[in-house]
Amino acid sequence: QKVKEESVEFLIPSYACQRRTSLDNHNTNFTDALSHLAENAELNNEDGRAVAFRRAAAVLKALPVKVTSITQLRGLPCLGEHSQRVIKDVIENGVSSEVESTIHSERFKALKLLTGIFGVGAKTADRWFKEGIQNLTQLANSGHDLNRAQQAGLEHYYDLNQPVTKAEAEAIGDIVKKAVLDVLPGSEIILTGGFRRGKITGHDVDFLITHPDEGKEVGLVSKVVSWLTARGLLLYQKNTRNSYLESEDGPAQPPSNMDRFERCFSIFKLEKKEIPNRNWRAVRVDLVVSPISQFAFAVLGWTGSKLFERELRRWAGQVKSMSLSSHALYDNKQCKYLRATSEEEIFTHLGLEFIPPSERNA
Ligand code: ATP
Ligand code: MN
Ligand code: MN
Repeated sequence: QKVKEESVEFLIPSYACQRRTSLDNHNTNFTDALSHLAENAELNNEDGRAVAFRRAAAVLKALPVKVTSITQLRGLPCLGEHSQRVIKDVIENGVSSEVESTIHSERFKALKLLTGIFGVGAKTADRWFKEGIQNLTQLANSGHDLNRAQQAGLEHYYDLNQPVTKAEAEAIGDIVKKAVLDVLPGSEIILTGGFRRGKITGHDVDFLITHPDEGKEVGLVSKVVSWLTARGLLLYQKNTRNSYLESEDGPAQPPSNMDRFERCFSIFKLEKKEIPNRNWRAVRVDLVVSPISQFAFAVLGWTGSKLFERELRRWAGQVKSMSLSSHALYDNKQCKYLRATSEEEIFTHLGLEFIPPSERNA
């Protein structure tokens, strides 16, 4: 699978976890178009289609050159007929007519706006849209009972749709670190998600916490949340206890995106002196606690990108007969768990070249 640029050929393997994808994307015109179609498919609950568009976009993100002719695509993996048609349209007309009509449709605009509310997923947004709700005012006047997350999401709608900067992520990191070390000295905390991949903004801030003595970390999330709440630093929080159990027979359920770590999905009240009148802004923060024995898997699973994670699990299952999750790696042939204390070791178990976080931007 090769792409030709003059006489140079580039090898593009078909699983995103087999290749390096930096943030330096030479084909944003195509990847933006394909991402819009993926997003639209997600909003329509068409998961298969969404993944197909995401995979196609990821291949173009990994190319070291800008594509200017359809002939350069020959031999590239993951480019289905539909994606190729979109790319051709963008090459010939500058835009794809399908993408244009999709993103300007009333449905897409309304569903995007409604799912932009923290706590509102595609299914809820679709139900509301079918009832004629297309904007926040109509939602507020609809008389719908919103759950606690959605109420907070609506209240902080503007802030939560403003990108979070690296500086804001670090400021929150300093506070969370203080809280964590105060309630459990010796803990370790790292910034994961998009910021670990080198992104300069994000939609939230993701932290992963552990302690070198296995077991000491149990209950840590609620202690940290109490610490933060006592200081008025949380606008919303929802804790979940750890529900992961390892079994002799291997993972009970097929590996899915949802892990079972002790966690807190929160909205942080970040002090910002430069914001007039109120001096703070709301920021979405995810706190996740992992036992040290699962930490390498948790770091790998929470660094992303979402497609990179999905491809890792698909590689593990389809090529290696293994089940990978954010907790563990299970070898279905040997019927045993494969231990690891670093991300590098997990890549080795999977028979993959190590891809550093900054190259996981698939
Ligand atoms: P952004 O900058 O927009 O926040 P991101 O890559 O950090 O981008 P997140 O949605 O914050 O995106 O997710 C970060 C990582 O955590 C992803 O790899 C995702 O797979 C993983 N993740 C998110 N939510 C869960 C969950 N509930 N269970 C397991 N893993 C999750
Ligand atoms: Mn994130
Ligand atoms: Mn997150």
